[in-house]
Order: sequence, then structure tokens, then C-alpha cells
Amino acid sequence: MRFLTADYLFPLNKNPLKEGVLQVNEKGDVVAILKHRKLVPDRNLEFYNGILCPGFVNSHCHLELSHLKGMTTEGKGIIDFISNIKQRNNYSKQQINVAIDLAEQQMIKNGIVGVGDICNTNDTINQKTKNNLRYYNFIEVFGVTNNTLDSIMIDAIDLRKQFRELNQKATITPHASYSVVPALMKSITNNLDIKDDLITIHMNESKLENELFENKKGAFKDWLQELNASHEIWEKRNKTLDSILELETKKILLVHNTFANEDDLKENYYCTCPKANLYIENSLPDYSLFDSTKLCVGTDSLASNNSLSILEELKIIQDNSKFDLNTLLKIASKNGAEILGFKDLGSFTEGKNPGVNLIQNLDGLKIRNDSNILRII
Ligand SMILES: [Zn+2]
Repeated sequence: MRFLTADYLFPLNKNPLKEGVLQVNEKGDVVAILKHRKLVPDRNLEFYNGILCPGFVNSHCHLELSHLKGMTTEGKGIIDFISNIKQRNNYSKQQINVAIDLAEQQMIKNGIVGVGDICNTNDTINQKTKNNLRYYNFIEVFGVTNNTLDSIMIDAIDLRKQFRELNQKATITPHASYSVVPALMKSITNNLDIKDDLITIHMNESKLENELFENKKGAFKDWLQELNASHEIWEKRNKTLDSILELETKKILLVHNTFANEDDLKENYYCTCPKANLYIENSLPDYSLFDSTKLCVGTDSLASNNSLSILEELKIIQDNSKFDLNTLLKIASKNGAEILGFKDLGSFTEGKNPGVNLIQNLDGLKIRNDSNILRII
């Protein structure tokens, strides 16, 4: 048995405890939360300076794009970014695999225990079967014309099967409202089965999305027309969020929401990726619009971020919101675990095995720019 104590314990399923104690067994399972360190003899205690909280959940990542770190141009907007991502195929399998391995190691070091990960390929599958981290794999489809929908779905179902055969959670998911025709949304719905709990979609990442759907014009429309895209994309939808009405599923995680307004943020779950938003669009969401109990956080990929660290994302959210530390840590851990269905992660609840992070160099109960993270379990 281990008895861990720090200046504060943030169990996340209950209020923070000053000088509280976390009791865990050899496997890291939570055995008990003790209200104060005085209840345990000093010789049994492990003392830490800082705060202890459960492992983080990175609710939106593209691990397979890790080799594109530093290869895209910052601040050029979403269309330039998507065009840049096409370079992904100019690398050897070995370069891709090395980058995936390093990126996963970085997440582990940064206290991440679970990941919602977008997959267009099976490049990450070997790494994931090592079971170093928990993954929910979202098999992502694009389709801007009606011509190739059958083959897109056949490939997606095959990829989902490859992941599932290796005991990885996998669900087919649309890329974004502007990149998926209504018939493909329908096909995603038709192919859902009982193993699918959640769909994710990139949403409101750029102002151009609103321009396309609300005004039927702008750079996105020009770009789509160059691709001979079906007009149904913008003609059948009057705002970007309309695309999810075409999905018959209960749980949807909307990712980014940088340009969302209050009406867009009602019934769903939300993921924010602040550093990627700053990188691509140089913008952040209005955090006062979110219900913080439905908000989680992701790093996006190393193609649009210089690190895979939830703590670094929290620093940006804290500077741009009124969320207190307990709320920030729920966004970083508990909410993502709930949304992604990682039942034994997300809080220091007895019986769970959520990992243990130490955050050091705080200013009282505020994260500082130089606060850092040490993974204890
Ligand atoms: Zn993404």
C-alpha cells in the first residue's frame, strides 16, 4: 500500500482536500481517500509539494500525424493547414512509426492516461496494442462528392475491423460539416452498431465554416468547388451544426468550437484544443459560453502543436476563462473520461485506476507559466 499526500488532493469526484491522502495499492488502484494526513503515521506517507490529481485524458489527438511536427505553417488558416497535411504520405513507414512512438512517450510523461484519437490509417495500430495508454479510435471519413461514398465506407469499415480485432475501441466518425456530404453522414449512421458510443466531429474551427453555411460563399466554397464538391454540403445546411442533425446518435463530441455561439453549445459534449486553435487560426473560443461539466480538452496533433501536454493547454484556458483549478482539472481528466467511456479513469474514486499526476510550482491554487507535471503513477 502507498499513502500519497501533497499540499492539496484533487479527487475530482469530491471537493479538493488540503493535505489529504490518497491510498493506492501496488497496481495503482484507488483504495481510499483520507481527509487529512494526520490520520496516517508519518512514516507511511509519501510527501509531495504541489497538488495531486488523476491522470489526464487527451480528448482529441491525431497520433498518426506526429511525424508532421514543425512541417505546417503557423497562422495561415484552416485551408492552408489541410493542404499542408497532404504531405503526410511523403514519409517512410519507419519515420512515421518512430514519431508515433515518441509522441506516445511524450503523452505518458505528461501525465496522459487516455486518448480520443482520430485515425485515417492503421499507422498507429501496433503502438496501441502495446496498451501503454487507453485509446478510443475514431475512424475518420471525408467525402465531398457523392461518387465514391461506397468505397469510402468499405475502407472505413475495414479499418474499424482492424482496430476492433486487436481489442481497440473504434467508431466511424465524420471529419467536419464542410468535408462530408449528407449521404455519407447517413451511411455513418447506418453502419453504427452496439459497440459505438460516441461520434466526434471537427466543428466551428474556422470563421469560414459560418460563411459557407450561412452565406453560401467564401474561401471554403471556392475551395470545395475546386474539388468538384457536391452543392448539397452547403445547400442542405444553413449552419455548420446542421450536419449533426443528419447523424442519428445520442452522444456527439464537437471538437474545437472556436467560433461557436451560445446557440451552438446546448446538448452536446465539447472539446477545446486551445494551442492548436492559436496555431492554425490564431483564435480561441469564448470559454464563458461553455457548460464546464461538458467540456474536455485535447492537444490535437503535433502538426498543429509543439507539445502533447494537457497542462500546457490548461495554462491557455486558465488565462482566458474564469475556471478555477478544480474545474480546469475536471476538464482535463474527469469530463474526458466520462465522454470517452474510460470508466476507471478520471477521478480518485475507490476501485478506479486513474493514474496520479503531481503538478508543481503553483501560485496558491493557480497554475503558473512555469508549473510542471510529474507523473507519480
Ligand atoms: Zn483534429
